Amino acid sequence: MSEGVLERTPGGAILLDGNRLRDETVARLRGEIEAAGSPAVCLATVLVGSDKPSQIYVRMKHRKAEEAGLISRGVELPESATQAEVEEQVAALVADPTVHGILVQLPLPAHLDAEPVLAMLPPEKDVDGLTERSLGRLVRDLPGHVPCTPLGVMRLIERYGIETSGRRAVVVGRSTLVGLPQVLLLGRKGCDATVTLAHSRTTDLIEVCRQADIIVAAAGQAHMIGPDHVRPGAAVLDVGVSRTSDGIVGDVDFDQVQAVAGAITPMPGGTGPMTIGCLLENTVAAARMLGAF
Ligand code: NDP
Repeated sequence: MSEGVLERTPGGAILLDGNRLRDETVARLRGEIEAAGSPAVCLATVLVGSDKPSQIYVRMKHRKAEEAGLISRGVELPESATQAEVEEQVAALVADPTVHGILVQLPLPAHLDAEPVLAMLPPEKDVDGLTERSLGRLVRDLPGHVPCTPLGVMRLIERYGIETSGRRAVVVGRSTLVGLPQVLLLGRKGCDATVTLAHSRTTDLIEVCRQADIIVAAAGQAHMIGPDHVRPGAAVLDVGVSRTSDGIVGDVDFDQVQAVAGAITPMPGGTGPMTIGCLLENTVAAARMLGAF
């Protein structure tokens, strides 16, 4: 991105604008589908129960899918759905050749087991990249879908030209949804960062983080990363989402950290929109893998 169009925070950090990059991604995918003669590319979502945030996320995914020229199909099941009912719906989507990507919105209600449901998804249709086979392909550096949130972080890093080769990165959080795949993506050949994985048992987190040129915060602890954690000029990418009495906040204390960082994601408007952008990117890739165009 040329210097002229970079937006900066009051403290001078480059704003890593996820809404903008998501919109660019939507427009690019729409162009690719239209250039191929507008084949029907279909994303199916499975939503079980009435968890409000999950309903909002799914609605947003459908809206952006349609903007990108995809067809979206939503399967909704009540909170009382049984394991067998959920699996029956997923099996139908797996068998349907007109469906290219399947996303099972997590978490499922507490009485359901997500593992056997995820295990039903073939790697080609697993656009969330969370199944054993997709994560195994990532570990083995084989082609496949990469989990959307850490992929979105990588897309921001690429788009804003943040150097990774030989640089030190710290990922705070070690979930299979975000932290672990993030470590693999930053450290793999071609990206070539030297990566440290921090978690709740890490001692001296401030010292560990201060070594980093890139910090990815994915712990889900409101404002846990402050200016003391950040080496001047470092890039700080905030994945965390915490609901507090002050509203929804990230892991990074944006107001304080933007004065020290060289680049920073806003919250909201940083990694969240890119999670959706990468879901759509994965769905278009799935359609290609499945021969839709
Ligand atoms: P998990 O709860 O599964 O994992 C949190 C991780 O953070 C754990 O590894 C935990 O360590 C670590 N951790 C917790 N507290 C601390 C601490 N004080 N210091 C250091 N490490 C800590 O969460 P997820 O990975 O699923 O999600 C992380 C956050 O990202 C959440 O806020 C979630 O809402 C958000 N999220 C945002 C998305 C987006 O699109 N922006 C998408 C997905 C998630 P340990 O393993 O030792 O317990």
